[in-house]
Amino acid sequence: MRTTSRGTTQQSSAPYNRRVVLDFIRQHGAASRKDIVDRVSLSPQTVANITNDLEAIGLIVSRRLKVDKTRGQPPIAFELNPDAGTAIGISLEPGRASAALVNLVGDIRARSELVVDTRDRRQILAGMLELVSQLRKNSRERLWGIGVALPGPLGANELSFVGPTALEGWVDLSVLDELRDITGLPLFHSVDSVAGALGETLFGEAKSLNNFFYLHFGLGLGGALVENRMAYHGASGNATEIGHVPLVPGGRACYCGNQGCLERYVSMHSLAEAMGVDDKQVWTLPIEQLLDASGDTLFMRWCSEASERLRDAICMIENMLDPQAIVIGGSAPKRLVEHLVAQAQPLRHSVRGGLSSSGARIVLSQRQVDSSILGAAVLPIHEMLSPRLDVLQPDRRVEADLAELLGHATHR
Ligand SMILES: [Zn+2]
Repeated sequence: MRTTSRGTTQQSSAPYNRRVVLDFIRQHGAASRKDIVDRVSLSPQTVANITNDLEAIGLIVSRRLKVDKTRGQPPIAFELNPDAGTAIGISLEPGRASAALVNLVGDIRARSELVVDTRDRRQILAGMLELVSQLRKNSRERLWGIGVALPGPLGANELSFVGPTALEGWVDLSVLDELRDITGLPLFHSVDSVAGALGETLFGEAKSLNNFFYLHFGLGLGGALVENRMAYHGASGNATEIGHVPLVPGGRACYCGNQGCLERYVSMHSLAEAMGVDDKQVWTLPIEQLLDASGDTLFMRWCSEASERLRDAICMIENMLDPQAIVIGGSAPKRLVEHLVAQAQPLRHSVRGGLSSSGARIVLSQRQVDSSILGAAVLPIHEMLSPRLDVLQPDRRVEADLAELLGHATHR
């Protein structure tokens, strides 16, 4: 069910074709020149030039495949070179900043976390600089850039930067420009749900899914719809902000001004409220013990309500968007999410319900602890690896990055 991007013969398409080839190799783990030629609609000569270039700049490595001895010279397979570089991912949630250094194949090389007052711009900038400087010490390879994932929605709309699950008090994102200027590194940012979905697409459970909905279960609740490995953004870039869909008539008041929003029932913030602790303490709750003992009334009541709301949300997502699967990730403890999903069974009837033979309706991220951070680090890597058609209508910044990235190859 994978889609393969196809090459193009347009003049301005060289960087695009390099990305198509790079992405094909990434998706398939190991690919021979013949595999690439057969699948991406580029001539054997173009593919040979591109693989030579990518190998020369160290982004891919080649090795001879073992095959049956009687069939002559075994073919050469290309693989991504995990040591070709790293990126730093920073995930911001109210009250804390978590970061990791990630290589080209999604391995986490080092991690760091800080408690910061995210309402104070000076403190958050200092915190992010400290994380970058700590992680930079662990990177001997080229550092591709920094990705920052932050809770949505973003931009100047009435839901942005409001309430305890958003970065309250942030009027704009200029602090990220300061981070870029001080570090001198390319910087990308995204809503955490979209970043998490990209992480799952490149390195996780959604690697072989063409079409899926990613549910980001963290302090708040977000979502992203991915089709053909691209997130659907909507008119203002804030599509699928599922946490603020009112699902409970006359339900709990939400800081967005509505009542009964999904996030008021399914989020770590709602768990904190139910348990009478603050958002910082919710991360230190003994979730495993609470689940094993199943004797804490407040906790069990929250679980039962959250799983019921999750059941409704799954039905809504499936009927609206018909994804191949719903992938759940985010910073919430994995055991807790597993429990809620189990408790949400049997799932409601939906357009997906009848397709029982075509795979699981719900898939849990196996990288859950790291998914928001990994997702953030993916942003600079994704920028480099993914073929994007808009590169054909030159986006100057992307073109410049690619020219620099591929400079060695193009200026030989
Ligand atoms: Zn709301």
